[in-house]
Amino acid sequence: MPISRRRILQAGAGSVLAMMIPGKTFGQDSTKTSEDVMEKKESENAPPLYPKFDTHMHAEGPKEDLLPVLDALGVRRVLNLSYSGFREPAELLAFENKLLADMDKYPNRFRFAPAFNVTRFREPGYTDSVIAKLANDIDRHGAVAVKIWKDLGMMLRDDDGRYVFCDDTRFLPIYDYIVSRGLVIYSHIADPLAGWLPLDTPSPHARYFRNHPEFHWYGKPDKPSHDEILRHRDALVARYPKTIFVAAHLASMEHDLEETAKFLDTFPNVRIDTAARFADLMMKPDAQVRAFFIKYQDRILYGTDCDFNAEELGKTPEAKRQKIKSIITAHQKNFTYFEDTLALPPDVLRKFYYENAAALFAKSKK
Ligand SMILES: [Zn+2]
Repeated sequence: MPISRRRILQAGAGSVLAMMIPGKTFGQDSTKTSEDVMEKKESENAPPLYPKFDTHMHAEGPKEDLLPVLDALGVRRVLNLSYSGFREPAELLAFENKLLADMDKYPNRFRFAPAFNVTRFREPGYTDSVIAKLANDIDRHGAVAVKIWKDLGMMLRDDDGRYVFCDDTRFLPIYDYIVSRGLVIYSHIADPLAGWLPLDTPSPHARYFRNHPEFHWYGKPDKPSHDEILRHRDALVARYPKTIFVAAHLASMEHDLEETAKFLDTFPNVRIDTAARFADLMMKPDAQVRAFFIKYQDRILYGTDCDFNAEELGKTPEAKRQKIKSIITAHQKNFTYFEDTLALPPDVLRKFYYENAAALFAKSKK
């Protein structure tokens, strides 16, 4: 059964609204000069906008209503990510068709990152059918990356009941193919460490695990540990040193920037994104986060995990307007954090928001 994205969002782990942390001070005056900004918003009081490349969106359905949101946030480009979600092949295709809706109309705005089915991995012909699917994703839709998801390590099991990890040798022909086509591997492997801790441990993800007991593995010694799952991810990264891996959600190491730094130091082919982990950053000392962003300024991508479904914006024009407004407001608070609270230097912000991603994803593979 696929995991409903909507349910995940309602639980807060991926919600843009969950990126807000109350009690932080916002709205300091910007000291940036006009050369530091590339766009200005219409309102005189609004802070200036840096161009953005959101590398972690799930935008389903017609894109028309999304465009004004992107414009308001300065998001010039989007990597629209699929994820396998433990879906059967036909379900995955149906989901990806929603992601692809209208994307051809805006060839400079959207890039596509497909996923592949994992549930049928024991069936004859599995590898060939996955490779044929991915070939189509690249040749027809210009796919620039392939997403792998936490069903590898946390859902998929072998005949003997053991969990199957992302570096399982049976998937290697698929990775070989992805690598041969020069695509990025975009990985969301494991959950936040909070999933292995008591529910009352302070964490932005506590509500998610309260609502998803199937992924709350504290006190379940028969389940793989957080560390074990990530070691398999690391083995995969090590196997393809010339391939760029984007480890989503602060590499699932949001609890410890020092560990994340070690991971980046060990694997030069890794980038990380910030998707749905803004609240984790905001809980840490500002000076520590600032130093991390400056040190790894070429390796961090601006991703939000914004889930935009054109069909679920609301039935009335007013409901729709409110929903769009809430999305914009949530993102703007994140900008305030990076630009004012952390006061990251303009060249670091430009890399983080746009340039690091553009270097990987600007060119369609079509
Ligand atoms: Zn996501």
